[in-house]
Amino acid sequence: MGRVFNFSAGPAMLPTEVLEHARAEMLDYRGTGMSVMEMSHRGRDFMEIAERAEADLRDLMGIGDDYAVLFLQGGATSQFAMVPLNLLGSRDTADYINTGQWSKKAIAEARRFCAVRVAASTEDSGFTTCPAQEELELNPGAAYVHYTPNETIGGVEFPYVPETGAVPLVADMSSTILSRPIDVSRFGVIYAGAQKNVGPAGLTLVIVRRDLIGEPRQGTPTMFSYRTHAEAGSMFNTPPTYAWYLAGLVFQWLKAQGGLAAMAQINRRKAEKLYAAIDGSDFYHNPVDPACRSWMNVPFTLADPALDKTFLAEAEAAGLKTLKGHRSVGGMRASIYNAMPEAGVDALIAFMEEFERRYG
Ligand SMILES: *Cc1c(COP(=O)(O)O)cnc(C)c1O
Repeated sequence: MGRVFNFSAGPAMLPTEVLEHARAEMLDYRGTGMSVMEMSHRGRDFMEIAERAEADLRDLMGIGDDYAVLFLQGGATSQFAMVPLNLLGSRDTADYINTGQWSKKAIAEARRFCAVRVAASTEDSGFTTCPAQEELELNPGAAYVHYTPNETIGGVEFPYVPETGAVPLVADMSSTILSRPIDVSRFGVIYAGAQKNVGPAGLTLVIVRRDLIGEPRQGTPTMFSYRTHAEAGSMFNTPPTYAWYLAGLVFQWLKAQGGLAAMAQINRRKAEKLYAAIDGSDFYHNPVDPACRSWMNVPFTLADPALDKTFLAEAEAAGLKTLKGHRSVGGMRASIYNAMPEAGVDALIAFMEEFERRYG
């Protein structure tokens, strides 16, 4: 089989079992004589797929009935606008925690709609750390507090969930959702583009506390209203049916792995061994504060950046793909989401050790 270990930050690897399952059902989904892509989203077969996916996600994450789960389009980037449009209500200010490139994008978009207060920023550190709870300067009058639990580009992950009192907490979980158990009741809104840890691109998950689904700001397009989608069961218009189906297969796969507690153990182990390999060598370097290192995205540089091209070419030849770092950070980045097998991390570490022996 020609499968490689793909360290892309997104779209990222999907579990091979999920792809095989989808392949087996591709031409004829359970005797319907058609693929899931070709079905009406309002027909019984797809409704069953949709309901099962939602039920499995609720089960995996422990999402209570007081939350709506929306299967939308538009990516996490659309949520940068939908969050203020739907949550501001009569308020005109929101708090944002700035920990990297994705926080900055969320802030820039929110500024189109309200006064953004930056409750903490780690920009001075070059976005290599996350603020402590005591460092958050929160405004009790804010409509909500927005943060990015895992900065996909910088590889910075909060080791805790910020405490925001009565102000709803909004999290862009695009690159960390489903990587470990979380207490959903701590959040007002959780959103995530699917293409990192959920399924194919084109689907965006939004988990929103029902009491926050109000009247959106005047002039909000119908499609940008949480109420529209909550009332229509995410079927106000044609939803991304195939991506929804594949996400459902990923949820079933996660349950078969033992759920999020089991995934957390595997993810922690994968990340710890990769960081240990980086820290144990003078040849590789990761700049992130060890307390805030991401389990999902591991950036690293070589002692001699002139070797970057050789490293990437040889890694690629060894079946270790898409390790090039984000253009804003340089160096390498290994994204090791749920679907990256531990064997992939082991292979990367073995390759890095061998590369250092030859070039270090
Ligand atoms: C990838 C990513 C985004 C952008 O997601 P799209 O689905 O492409 O809009 C936003 N936030 C974070 C944290 C990401 O990792």
